[in-house]
Amino acid sequence: MQLNHIANAPVACATGRTIPVIDPSDGQPFDAIQRSGAEDIDAAVRAARTCHDTWKMAPAERGRLLQRLSAKILEHADELTALEQRDCGKPTRQARSDALALARYFEFYAGACDKLHGATIPCADGSSAFTWREPHGVTGHVIPWNYPMQIFGRSVGGALAAGNACVVKPAEDACLSLIRVAQLAVEAGLAPGALNIVTGYGHEVGDALARHPGIDHISFTGSPAIGTLIQQLAAERHCPVTLELGGKSPQIIFADADLDAAVPAVVQAIVQNAGQTCSAGSRVLIHAPIYEPLLERLGRAFEALRVGPAAMDLDAGPLIRRAQQQRVRDFLSDAQRAGIPTVAQGIVVDEAPETGFYQAPILLRDVPVQHRLAQEEVFGPVLSAMAFQDEEHAVELANATRFGLVAGIWTRDGARQLRMARRVRSGQVFINNYGAAGGVELPFGGVKSSGYGREKGFEALYGFTTLKTVAIRHG
Ligand code: NAD
Repeated sequence: MQLNHIANAPVACATGRTIPVIDPSDGQPFDAIQRSGAEDIDAAVRAARTCHDTWKMAPAERGRLLQRLSAKILEHADELTALEQRDCGKPTRQARSDALALARYFEFYAGACDKLHGATIPCADGSSAFTWREPHGVTGHVIPWNYPMQIFGRSVGGALAAGNACVVKPAEDACLSLIRVAQLAVEAGLAPGALNIVTGYGHEVGDALARHPGIDHISFTGSPAIGTLIQQLAAERHCPVTLELGGKSPQIIFADADLDAAVPAVVQAIVQNAGQTCSAGSRVLIHAPIYEPLLERLGRAFEALRVGPAAMDLDAGPLIRRAQQQRVRDFLSDAQRAGIPTVAQGIVVDEAPETGFYQAPILLRDVPVQHRLAQEEVFGPVLSAMAFQDEEHAVELANATRFGLVAGIWTRDGARQLRMARRVRSGQVFINNYGAAGGVELPFGGVKSSGYGREKGFEALYGFTTLKTVAIRHG
């Protein structure tokens, strides 16, 4: 049984209720978390406030502390990998790379603590003016289930580095690794109240967090629908928010592209984490002259994909829950009704028990741009292909959704790379790679319905601070 983590202590929730933790690989419960409510959020916010108001630590010392936490995470990487694997159904390689990324986030932000400078500003004669970057105070973090460790690392790592105290609401489907990390943070020397974890359902405890007047900034990562709710609640008390929402990201492949590099990257970008990735490359836009041959190559790659229990460490594990599996199946039924052709699909291995939430990766072709498969986030391993005639047409298709998170551009033509990068409306553009060119150092976020504000990189620290201007008249 897992407890909340408030003021560095394990605490049962006020209601005494729990939520079972289900293993997506076999559909069976194996643990339980607290089903917290508004009272528990209130206790966590009070602990965070006390910490923020009393915990005095020089930025360099805070950096050393976050570095110690990073080292602890690395020391416990196997344990965190195993927790995440069972809780989220992630193949071992994925769960392990998430644990390593978590350590790297704390390492990166450890080094940033004492580099958050303000500025001096030339102003009236006989006066001086400068700015301080101050923490917001108590920051709230609502985390989704698809990459709990990574999203916790980028959001909480930045907030702590900037000097905030944090209240974290993990997704009800994926809490175990984060509770363990909070315990490791105690060992690393984090003050009581600096990091609090309160588990439960979104409409109960997430809602309470978003409404709490003691929260000074909210970092939300999740669906556009809940992002809208959070934004509305925060607006009532003018609380700043960062929203990291969904995507329908295009991979744009021109006839001159290096297809040996593009094919595995396109497949990986939709199969990783069984397609449950905000930045999944879920649309592949292919230059007409290579449409047929490239679909054939992609089809062969899809047929080689294997899906099964997380512990088998195959190309993909199960989806997170039964409802998610049903959601993906509904999209595929719609595709069938609309006569959208299937090019190829992978295989769910025989050993996979029927109770797990599996979905074979599938490649569809000639998907009409207005069909929901080309417009909505499936959050499963479903890749929609369509052809474009020229650069203009590629830009038009790439921008034809309400999202703008990531775009992949594959071409050897340098001028075209830059023209396309300028014209595609998204927060990130990867040229001749898809996320391989950098990690935690790169600012990340969306435009349009993919959200706003940035996390990751140094840029994120500005979002976790507020700027104070000080002006002195000294004559
Ligand atoms: P979700 O919006 O259902 O849940 C996200 C979090 O919000 C969970 O912790 C949930 O409990 C909480 N929540 C739910 N209802 C709430 C409410 N009424 N008030 C407050 N909190 C509430 O999303 P999900 O299904 O967990 O995650 C998938 C979505 O997240 C996808 O749309 C995906 O694209 C997006 N995502 C975005 C990024 C990014 O960086 N842009 C990263 C990962 C996931």
